[in-house]
Amino acid sequence: MKLSKNFSLAELCATSTGVKNVPTQDVTDNLTNLVKNVLQPLRDLYGKPITVNSGYRCEALNKRVGGARTSQHMTGQAVDITTGTKEGNRKLFAILEGMEFDQLIDEKDMSWIHVSFKPSPNRNQKLKL
Ligand SMILES: [Zn+2]
Repeated sequence: MKLSKNFSLAELCATSTGVKNVPTQDVTDNLTNLVKNVLQPLRDLYGKPITVNSGYRCEALNKRVGGARTSQHMTGQAVDITTGTKEGNRKLFAILEGMEFDQLIDEKDMSWIHVSFKPSPNRNQKLKL
């Protein structure tokens, strides 16, 4: 199922771990909001493909990959993305800074970016991990 021009529900729920990672309707709604408000506008401004490393994680998957216990990945409100290069990721981060988000995290010196969005209010909190 396509959520927007460039993003599908399948790629936002994909995992190579073998854990069954099926979104509920609430999770699907959150992923849809994340795509419509953040990912697709970001993709349009960036103008090139963006890879989703990790989107929705059910509790078992989140545990398996060592995610935080209260991770927004578990509600479908967060995504980890990369362009494949740190230079590209710096550009993505700069674009995201001008948008509405809940949390925006520079992970391991721009190795990838974590961004989350929720209906409201969003915190517009920036972190470097
Ligand atoms: Zn993340």
